[in-house]
Amino acid sequence: MSKPTNPSMQQVWQQDRDHYIHPWTDFSTFKETGSMVLADSDNVHVVDGDGKRYLDGIGGLWCVNIGYGNEEMAEAIAEQVRKIPYYSCFGHHTTVPAAQLAAKLAELAPGNLNHVFYGCGGSVANDTAVRMIHFYFNQLGKKSKKQIISRIDGYHGSTYMAMSITGVKFDHIGFDIEEKLVHHISCPNPYRRPAGLSVEAFCDQKVQELEDKILELGPDNVAAFFAEPIMGAGGVIVPPEGYHKRTLDVCRKYGVLYVSDEVVTAFGRLGHMFASNDEFDFVPDIITCAKGLTSGYLPLGATIISDDIYEVISKPQADGAIFTHGFTYSGHPVSCAAGLKNIEIMERMHLCDHVRDMGAYFENQLKTLLDLPIVGDVRGRKFMMCIENVANKETKELIAPEAKVGNRIADHCQQRGLIVRPLAHMNVLSPPLTLTKEHIDFLVATLRESIEATISDLHRDSFL
Ligand code: PMP
Repeated sequence: MSKPTNPSMQQVWQQDRDHYIHPWTDFSTFKETGSMVLADSDNVHVVDGDGKRYLDGIGGLWCVNIGYGNEEMAEAIAEQVRKIPYYSCFGHHTTVPAAQLAAKLAELAPGNLNHVFYGCGGSVANDTAVRMIHFYFNQLGKKSKKQIISRIDGYHGSTYMAMSITGVKFDHIGFDIEEKLVHHISCPNPYRRPAGLSVEAFCDQKVQELEDKILELGPDNVAAFFAEPIMGAGGVIVPPEGYHKRTLDVCRKYGVLYVSDEVVTAFGRLGHMFASNDEFDFVPDIITCAKGLTSGYLPLGATIISDDIYEVISKPQADGAIFTHGFTYSGHPVSCAAGLKNIEIMERMHLCDHVRDMGAYFENQLKTLLDLPIVGDVRGRKFMMCIENVANKETKELIAPEAKVGNRIADHCQQRGLIVRPLAHMNVLSPPLTLTKEHIDFLVATLRESIEATISDLHRDSFL
């Protein structure tokens, strides 16, 4: 399916197929089809090994926020490489971009979240949060406060701890997870709420469930609640109005720290630098972020913590402990230079304003697809959207998983020059933030054609 015709790219395809263990890939189908080779890019488009252009509806992986091929970004990265490509920040050394970016993030982050720890991505940002939280409570003498609560369908990463906090069932098949520390409560998905229950009553139940879980485990044993403002990989689930503020209140009541996983939602995807405060009106204790922080140009993640937590973990400890945590590439100067330039570009281009303006158009245009017989729900906000495909729109019954409806739609889109992400029976859209009205019109028209073609295929194959 994806093998290029161009001979030099065919060699790349072969090398990849024979030697590269891809992340999150079904090896059986991979061995048959290999990979689509991506060789070039420009703004909202990527180009395959044969020179065919695609509008990238998923921004790489929810991350290429300023768009591809930004020359200014390339220059900033090259300039930092020439100046000083690396230095360790362990102990008392730093580099100019690492310090400047930390100050910039402190300025942009809500409330008193003024202190930044760097890693290489979102999983590590969440693992770091857990280690900090454990260290924090130990220093406060609350040594039993260790357990973590998160949600079914929440996604928090792929390291052992972050994957344990993740609540996507499929991701745990074939693996063990840390069961002593992590507990999942149900997902606040309004589309799947019980028939006859109002969204408000559904929200009450979900908030109560958090409180019940804390009480069941014992408030003295619960350290933190991890939640994405909008669940991404779990199907772009926007919780009911007030959910975040109310769950934060529950956390406050029992001395549980609230970690807002903004790996996807920060840096413009919802039209703000951070979504917790500006989109959902709450200030957590910790924000974790990555992806859009550098627009994916280089790997970087950050765990941003409050003054209160920082004060505790940074003061001289009675037992002589220091926060022994960090990575060779914590605060990598080239990644931090990319982060600084990325924010500068976003601010100068007013990309958050653009997303707030264009987001409404994107949402409304995507909602026109609801007239198609398998489109059960179009949800999300601004540049973080999802289409849920179903067999029956009344009962919300799913199409048989073997039909792989999300993949079929994605394949039809790809043939027509558009990349969308299949996620089980859903398709996700998280395009570069530079997307214009013309791009949106192309994207929605192509999706419509592709869903219609998929419906024909599903009838042909007796899945509908
Ligand atoms: N948290 C969220 C909300 C994510 O979407 C992701 C990645 N998709 C992660 C954490 C993990 O980030 P990374 O893949 O950079 O480790």
